[in-house]
Amino acid sequence: MQTAHSTEEMKGLRRKCKGSVGFVPTMGYLHEGHLELVRLAKNENHIAVVSIFVNPTQFAPSEDFKAYPRDLDRDLALLESAGADIVFIPGDKDMYPAGYDTWVEVKGITQTLEGRSRPTHFQGVTTVCNKLFNIVQPNRAYFGQKDAQQALVIEKMVSDLNMNLEIVVAPTIREKDGLAMSSRNIYLTPEERRSAPVLHKALQLASDMYDKGERDAILIKNAMTRLITAVPAAKIDYISIADIETLREVNAIRGRVLISLAVKLGKPRLIDNVILG
Ligand code: AMP
Repeated sequence: MQTAHSTEEMKGLRRKCKGSVGFVPTMGYLHEGHLELVRLAKNENHIAVVSIFVNPTQFAPSEDFKAYPRDLDRDLALLESAGADIVFIPGDKDMYPAGYDTWVEVKGITQTLEGRSRPTHFQGVTTVCNKLFNIVQPNRAYFGQKDAQQALVIEKMVSDLNMNLEIVVAPTIREKDGLAMSSRNIYLTPEERRSAPVLHKALQLASDMYDKGERDAILIKNAMTRLITAVPAAKIDYISIADIETLREVNAIRGRVLISLAVKLGKPRLIDNVILG
């Protein structure tokens, strides 16, 4: 496994790659969810490239950029065992030198859900992914369903800008009790950790209601809300049932919908989702 600590170093390694390149962008502090993406990238390509970059432009000033967990040595050991070939670890000043002034923005589907709660978030995500794709030049890039809106936004950017790569979205990896793996789970106190599977339970409740024929989105959201508010520490940011393409809220479920939620549980804000229909 090779490491590149600058954009120039990464471009140099890329020039030497033979065959297809699969790319997994991450912010590090890796868990099994990231590692599954790396294994998939390796299975489907000759070379697997992983980036570790806590991207400052996708955090609002009020958010946890400085406190975001980091452990590079542990990450490198995990990546080596998952079969990564190249790890790209750029510095902030390399990615955003003084005078940096170019932004990539997807409109429409970024205005809702995570975009409503975090208004500058997706512009940071699409800008950094665009830069990373230009530097790494992957044939395929791998994203997790856990961040469903992010995956849709990236797919939209790649399609709208005729970018020359394929986006692969892989299933959410969960803990045994259903909690979606996340680097931020480490901030949960033991008591919050015990309550945290309530997000997944609420999504399962929604799926069960749907399987039994319920199509009223308001009724399903009310049932999910009741389940979550039974946990005193949980503060619901949003519970959404939205059309999978437009991400507009629906009242009656007809086609495919994304059921998603964001809940603050103590310090961390947790998100999860399921697609139905
Ligand atoms: P992050 O490091 O949180 O920016 O995540 C990097 C990539 O890993 C993104 O594509 C995420 O959607 C994906 N990811 C994070 N957590 C999970 C998970 N539990 N299951 C699957 N993919 C995940």
